[in-house]
Amino acid sequence: MAKTKYSKSELAKFEKNINDKMGDISENIHAVRSTSSSKSSVFLENNTEDHNEGTEAHEVEKSFLLMSRESDYIVNLKKALQRIKDGTYGICQVSQSDPRKCECPNTPLIAKERLLEVPNATKGVFCKQKKKLNLV
Ligand SMILES: [Zn+2]
Repeated sequence: MAKTKYSKSELAKFEKNINDKMGDISENIHAVRSTSSSKSSVFLENNTEDHNEGTEAHEVEKSFLLMSRESDYIVNLKKALQRIKDGTYGICQVSQSDPRKCECPNTPLIAKERLLEVPNATKGVFCKQKKKLNLV
C-alpha cells in the first residue's frame, strides 16, 4: 500500500527545517531594520542634494515591502507547523478534497525535496500547475 502520511521522524525533520527557515527570516528582518536606520543617519548627515530624500524614501519603502513579504512567509510557515501538529503536513491539498484529482507522482504526498525547499507548500508541483490552468 502506498504511503499516505509522512512518519513522525520525517515530520520532525520538516519541523526543524521550518524552524531554521523562520530563524533565518527574523535575522533578515533584523538586518534590514538596522541597515535602513544606519542609512537614514548617513542621509541626514550628507543631505546636500535634493534627490537624496527621494532615494531614502524609496529605500525605506523597499525595506518595508521586503519585511511584509517576509512576514507573510512567516505566517505561512506557522501554518505549516500547525499542519505538522494536525498530521496533514505534506499531503497534497487537492488529494485531500478529491483523491482522484491528485496526480502527484507519489500521491497524496508532496515530494520530500519540494517540502524541504518550499516548506509552506500545500500542493504537489503537478497539482499546483493544474490549479494554475484551472484544470482542478
Ligand atoms: Zn496532488
